[in-house]
Amino acid sequence: MTAWDLSHFYEPHVLCYHRELDHQNGHDNVRVFVRGWVAFLSCENDLLMIRVTQPHMEGYCQQDHQPLTFASSFPRLLNDVVMVSWPEVGRRLAAVSGEVSYPNRHIDLLDEVNVFGFTMELSEVNITSESGSLGAPLLDGEGNVVGVLHGGNGRFSFFISLGDLREVLNQWGFILAVPA
Ligand SMILES: [Zn+2]
Repeated sequence: MTAWDLSHFYEPHVLCYHRELDHQNGHDNVRVFVRGWVAFLSCENDLLMIRVTQPHMEGYCQQDHQPLTFASSFPRLLNDVVMVSWPEVGRRLAAVSGEVSYPNRHIDLLDEVNVFGFTMELSEVNITSESGSLGAPLLDGEGNVVGVLHGGNGRFSFFISLGDLREVLNQWGFILAVPA
């Protein structure tokens, strides 16, 4: 399946932090979302990228939306990491910290039945997560992305590994800057 195929039955809508605040302080009676587009898709790595175009953002929010940076290396075992998620509408910026329990387990060693044929490696962290948090970034102690939430088993959470993220983003034509 391609991003184009997916666009026929999935229309992502994005709520930015500022418009969420506008809703909470009463400026927006209802939450206002902006239309996004599936720009890239990697079925084997369970990743997709949603793009929001500049013309859409001009009519939606004029404030800065700072991009996250990616770490150059994954933290060591037992180092602290933080997941920042938005598990459901209204519960913005739910942050939870934990420790790295293993950096890269191949998905075949975790899922007894890998029905979707995923091929990525997953980083294991001793935090719990909710299903609505899928796609949440995992950050290291310096605030750099080191993983993206794939799922959990009620005790540990599993994040698409930094190596897989870098590889997929390179395939999509993005060259990641390494933090200074
Ligand atoms: Zn905004």
